[in-house]
Amino acid sequence: MTDSKGRLMQGEQTDEFLSGIDTFFFDCDGVIWLGNEAIAGAVETVNKLRAKGKRIFFVSNNSSKSVASYMKKFQRFGIEAYPDEIYGTAKVTAWYIKNKLNFTGKVYLLGSESMAEEFDALDISHTGTGIGAVVQGLDIHVNYMKMIKATSYLAKESCLLIVTNEDDRLPVRGSNIVIPGTGSIGAILRVASRRQDRILIGKPNRNIYDCILSKHSINPESSCMIGDRIDTDIAFGIKCGFKTILVYSGVSTADEVEALRKKSPEMLPDYCLPTLADLMRIP
Ligand code: PLP
Ligand code: CA
Repeated sequence: MTDSKGRLMQGEQTDEFLSGIDTFFFDCDGVIWLGNEAIAGAVETVNKLRAKGKRIFFVSNNSSKSVASYMKKFQRFGIEAYPDEIYGTAKVTAWYIKNKLNFTGKVYLLGSESMAEEFDALDISHTGTGIGAVVQGLDIHVNYMKMIKATSYLAKESCLLIVTNEDDRLPVRGSNIVIPGTGSIGAILRVASRRQDRILIGKPNRNIYDCILSKHSINPESSCMIGDRIDTDIAFGIKCGFKTILVYSGVSTADEVEALRKKSPEMLPDYCLPTLADLMRIP
């Protein structure tokens, strides 16, 4: 069985596979789009799966977008999507703080305006004094003063450190530019604060799934996670008990899958596909 894992899904396998799945979890960047460009056939595939009656959720580690800004992006690409299907780490972090931690204090937020909107929506206070948690997502305006503030709050042991995700770089296509991601800002925080006890919200952890489960009932056995990263998406899918498909339109490569076959076969996806479009054989 293990030997068949992580292989390219063959055309004749797709119908049987699809008939066993009622719920799809899609990672966004690298699966549906690359930055601001749709991946060929991905939009049609998502819409076709919905038309076939499949349930759909979008699960993204990107903390810089609120549900409202995701809605605009889906509309721009012509993808039918509803707020209750969209789970980015801005929304899920706010949900976790409110509903899992039952935290009622003030947070110091290193994040985007969109992320602040999700905190406002749940009445999580992120201004003023008396900080009980530092929450770190992608803040493209991060600077030394903000770091000094964050690490000083964290000097108090009772102050929580919550990070949205640890992706080391932001996705950049077709250029040699490297853009440090949320995880790189987090690395500075961890080193400077000498804190190892951070709470990680995003994939590979299962908090996004727990947030979805707070509103929907899901049967993991008939669910499938589709992502472009082994270390976040596939690890998340395995943790949640879903079937998993790795697409080669983003970060992870076929060479990495082969390396995994020897090193950690338990982390292999069930199947691989060149792109999402191959699932519905869209030319
Ligand atoms: N974090 C940020 C800030 C991003 O811009 C992106 C992708 O655009 C990601 C994370 C990765 O998102 P996803 O989980 O949808 O691949
Ligand atoms: Ca991705």
